[in-house]
Amino acid sequence: MWIDTHCHLDAPEFGDAHVLARQARQLARERGVHCCVLPAVEVANFRAVRELAHALGDAYALGIHPLYVPRAHDEDLDRLDAELQAHRGDPRLVAVGEIGLDFFVPALCEPAMRERQQHFYRAQLRLARQHGLPVILHVRRSTDALLKHLRELPTGGGIAHAFNGSTEQAQAFLAQGFKLGFGGASTFDAARRLRALAASLPADALVLETDAPDMPPQWLYTPVAERAQGRPQGLNTPAELPRIGAEMAALRGIAVDELAAVTTANARAALPRLQAMEDTSP
Ligand code: ZN
Repeated sequence: MWIDTHCHLDAPEFGDAHVLARQARQLARERGVHCCVLPAVEVANFRAVRELAHALGDAYALGIHPLYVPRAHDEDLDRLDAELQAHRGDPRLVAVGEIGLDFFVPALCEPAMRERQQHFYRAQLRLARQHGLPVILHVRRSTDALLKHLRELPTGGGIAHAFNGSTEQAQAFLAQGFKLGFGGASTFDAARRLRALAASLPADALVLETDAPDMPPQWLYTPVAERAQGRPQGLNTPAELPRIGAEMAALRGIAVDELAAVTTANARAALPRLQAMEDTSP
């Protein structure tokens, strides 16, 4: 039994009316993925993730992603607050996310945009605390800044998604009550540092994710040059999660079943409402 703690099944890559998402979700279920968490990225997709999570029997999070901050308005934070309030009794709403800071994308690194990202991030940390929800964090070249704000505005923990930092940064997130999300990036032979980290962190630190349709595992990846020649990249879906988990188990030298059990327990610890949701689901 597996939990995909991060997948964007409402993304356009999954086709009109989410046809490919439904097919992929079914295949994932047949492979043992019994729950997916669908994070929102902006106010405009809040409804889509909520409806899709309900249709698929999955969970969702509501938040404004740092990549969407340039087109977000201050009123969007009021909308988020109102939605969290309106759906507080929905067992499928398990976190505030995806939120965070991205200091990789050049347009987001301009001083004014760094400020704006931090404004949205801090406001959403406050909302998470106010509504008693954990957070799902987008971390890219921003670990230390993210942690600084977290120390000032502690939440009930959550997940640092697509973690790719140092051992010290990992420890700092763990100290704040976070789990670390590992997915496709850790399946690449060349990702030596990340694989060493995935092998050495304590077992209770890890959760699994596909970040579908982004971040394909090595077996679906097509280099840019080959894509330019028309060879497409495979579509990353939650159905890849068990194979990512098997890679992780091999890295850690443990049985696949054991890895599945511990990462499932960790996901429920990071997102406590998942447990309640699963208990009430048929
Ligand atoms: Zn994401």
